[in-house]
Amino acid sequence: MRLSIVVPCYNEEAVLNETLTRLTKLLRGLINSAELSSDSEIVFVDDGSRDATWPIIEKAASVDRLIRGLKLSRNRGHQQAVLAGLLNARGDAIISVDADLQDDINAIPEMIKAHAAGAEVVYGVRKQRTTDTFFKRFTAEGYYRLLAWLGVEIVFNHADYRLLGRRAVEALREYREVNLFLRGVIPQLGFMSAIVYYDRAERFAGESKYPLSKMLALAWQGITSFSTMPLRLITGLGATVSLMSIGISLWAIWLRLFTESSVPGWASTVVPLYLLGGVQLLCIGVIGEYLAKTYLETKRRPLFHIEKDTTHLTPHVALSNAYAHPEDKPVV
Ligand code: UDP
Ligand code: MG
Repeated sequence: MRLSIVVPCYNEEAVLNETLTRLTKLLRGLINSAELSSDSEIVFVDDGSRDATWPIIEKAASVDRLIRGLKLSRNRGHQQAVLAGLLNARGDAIISVDADLQDDINAIPEMIKAHAAGAEVVYGVRKQRTTDTFFKRFTAEGYYRLLAWLGVEIVFNHADYRLLGRRAVEALREYREVNLFLRGVIPQLGFMSAIVYYDRAERFAGESKYPLSKMLALAWQGITSFSTMPLRLITGLGATVSLMSIGISLWAIWLRLFTESSVPGWASTVVPLYLLGGVQLLCIGVIGEYLAKTYLETKRRPLFHIEKDTTHLTPHVALSNAYAHPEDKPVV
């Protein structure tokens, strides 16, 4: 099997040499033990770095044929850099891993085994987050729960360390997401999947290229690219406020008819305030529902991916149309 390892790099001169050494050593080992074919590769994607990252990659690529470099025209962000690598790698299976090797590369052989056992997608999942700060751990785990509640299908505590088989990558190619959140797209692909657990280490040099602002942007991306729940919540809020205002008006009528404590002008001021507010929210919510439909349509996501096809088992049936049932065709 031919493996590609995709490594996005943004201003990583401090870690790159070490990363190169460790990855090539691992890959050579696997090639020597005949687990991988010798045309496997490590694809470093330079995401518009402004330091010596690209010269380092270029130099390494010129002396080692396992190493290949791709340079993006400018900084596009981690997700885009990973996608560029995935769509251009040549392997039968492709593993994406961060340049700082926080994700334990010793899980790679296990990922390959899981793939050989039939899993088209193998998710790397961190066992614990002891190397993260309390803040990062708290927000990250809370975020995964929020996504699950919003109905976004996602693998808990899985970042972008994963193996994709060739078929999964070709399926991914059909997604034309401008707002890219790979963690959300990959589970959409389907196919058989497996999970490999690993310990997450600390970044061994350099500092995080993910400041809070980028993290928040990615978090927001994950919600708005996959869930229309926020729009639906508006509808719910509108309906609740409308019902409440009907309750208030009944109460006001009751006060007026059966007690002495009604304040003149109160009901005619307060009830319309709530009622109109509620009706407006409800209307915005309804508009939101249509917006959500339009939004999903504009994504033009593929409707299906075919995992298996038995046409090769029945050589006389030439199945050209994916919608046609084999029995519809004359068997020659
Ligand atoms: N990265 C990238 N483009 C960016 C930011 C980050 O390609 O705009 C890469 C970076 O070089 C690293 C990976 O994304 O390989 C993860 O970044 P980092 O380790 O800084 O994130 P953290 O682990 O702190 O979340
Ligand atoms: Mg990192």
